[in-house]
Amino acid sequence: MSFIRLRGIGVSPGIGMGEICLSERVVFTARKEVIPRARVPWELKRLKKAAERTKEELLELKKDVSNKMGEEHAFIFDAHLLILEDRSLFSAVEKIIEEEKARAEWALSQVNRKYQSLFDSLDDDYFRQRKFDVSDVLSRIYGNLEVKKPTKGNACDARKMILVAHELLPSEAAMRLSQGNVLAVAMDVGGPTSHTAILARSLNIPAVVGLHNITQQVKNDDYLIVDGTDGEVIINPPLAVKKEFQGKKEKYDRYCRELKKTAKLKSVTLDEVRFCPLANIELPEEVNMAFSFGAEGIGLFRSEFIFLQKETLPSEEDHFSVYSRIAKSAHPFPVYIRTLDIGGEKSLPQLEIEKEPNPALGLRAIRFSLKNRDLFKTQLRAILRASQAKNVRILIPMITEVEEIGEVKLLFEEVKQELEKERIKFDRQIPLGVMIEVPAAAAIADILVKEVDYISIGTNDLIQYYLAVDRSNEFVSYLYKPLHPSVLRLIKFTIEASLREGKDVTVCGEMAADPLSALILFGFGLRKFSMNPIFIPRIKKTLRSVELRTVEKAVEEALGLKTAQDIEEHIIERILLKHPKAFLMGQAI
Ligand code: PEP
Ligand code: MG
Repeated sequence: MSFIRLRGIGVSPGIGMGEICLSERVVFTARKEVIPRARVPWELKRLKKAAERTKEELLELKKDVSNKMGEEHAFIFDAHLLILEDRSLFSAVEKIIEEEKARAEWALSQVNRKYQSLFDSLDDDYFRQRKFDVSDVLSRIYGNLEVKKPTKGNACDARKMILVAHELLPSEAAMRLSQGNVLAVAMDVGGPTSHTAILARSLNIPAVVGLHNITQQVKNDDYLIVDGTDGEVIINPPLAVKKEFQGKKEKYDRYCRELKKTAKLKSVTLDEVRFCPLANIELPEEVNMAFSFGAEGIGLFRSEFIFLQKETLPSEEDHFSVYSRIAKSAHPFPVYIRTLDIGGEKSLPQLEIEKEPNPALGLRAIRFSLKNRDLFKTQLRAILRASQAKNVRILIPMITEVEEIGEVKLLFEEVKQELEKERIKFDRQIPLGVMIEVPAAAAIADILVKEVDYISIGTNDLIQYYLAVDRSNEFVSYLYKPLHPSVLRLIKFTIEASLREGKDVTVCGEMAADPLSALILFGFGLRKFSMNPIFIPRIKKTLRSVELRTVEKAVEEALGLKTAQDIEEHIIERILLKHPKAFLMGQAI
């Protein structure tokens, strides 16, 4: 037995150790078989029957997963039922059968190929990952063209094991991970925003993806260590390595138990100053997980995902079903729904978006929505309809100037009046806020904030636009510094402008999840921190370990320093001097 160490992407932290169960790979056979013209209607009927069997299967799986893991995790099957019912997808398969006189297997594999390359051409990783949903549904229909053999993988179903797969299709991931016996997951492909990654994180199952060819290097019953924190996988480790990781695992498990405890504690500093941790989410399934990490609301729901559930544009009902699910699960806590942030580099498969010479400075987010008013109105109607229980709020991304807010308000009023005419209930007082992520908007925060109910600072975009640095560009990413004195001045100004007007202000970029930056923001007067839920406990731990006065003083002194590094060193030194526990958990994840 050879001992191999592999590097991948750790997408769900923790360590899992045990024997492997290798999951079969879903393959579409690509051999074209031509059929006589007279057989075409029969082939179409065969396809239809397979789709019907797939529907029954999805409904059954939904029930099963819902019983085992709760309704929120069964939502993936609703999304797949929607894809299954999407006429344009189905017609594309029928068309190939009719025009090419091909068997359904071939037609399905061709349509799958077309969609895979369409999604692959998208720049945004999150959107690219949605190709697996389409593939999942098509492969299920494919499998149902023949009357079913017993489901695969049963041999591994009962015992505790490490699941190894080339890729897990979303429904397969929901089914497998719901059984409670998966210790960890290792996959050849995938990224941090894939369904398997999101699900693994929400179920606390360690996972490493992007391992290229692990499925070819292992066989069933090999022993595997999966380190989801460091993105490492070890095949058949010697005893000494096993022991080392056993120790690491125990330490990590202790740390998690402490996190869980922290999640339940009050969000107050040593001197009883309240702060409010909120969650950034992309899927409705993440709501419960967010609350289990200690979130006190959903500070940012990125609505783009709804557009990926179908080949055509989502209907008002598609939007509504997602927003109302989130609003219900989070009630009475608030949910900030951000309207579509698309355009520029983030494209949508349904829309022909014109190539722009400089997409980061182009028709993005609210600029795109105001140019595509029907699409925007559909989204606003659905958000309003989901607002009846009064915990829904709206966030408009990438606002640059006051005029845009005026336009949004006019449109918003138009939609409200339409709903009233139709006697549809909604929250008339639904609060409206904007994201501050364009430097020009931050510089007039004192003016903008008067026009809205609250603001949310998107530091990810704000910093890259302010410093003129694309942080994913390896040549200049060293210049991307959230603690650059100019960035801190701008953020301080924005927070203070909002507080002066008595308006709520949140930071929902990555800075809110970094203990050192969060302390600085806290020193500026910020109390609402919205972040990826897994970081909530560590931010709570940091803020619970300090006193406002110490932080304010350290931050004030730091603002007189020249460089990001000086500022970082100063804050660490000053805070640690008084509050040695402030960064204790900061390094652990
Ligand atoms: C941001 O820009 O900080 C933000 C939260 O928006 P996104 O990361 O979705 O662009
Ligand atoms: Mg942004």
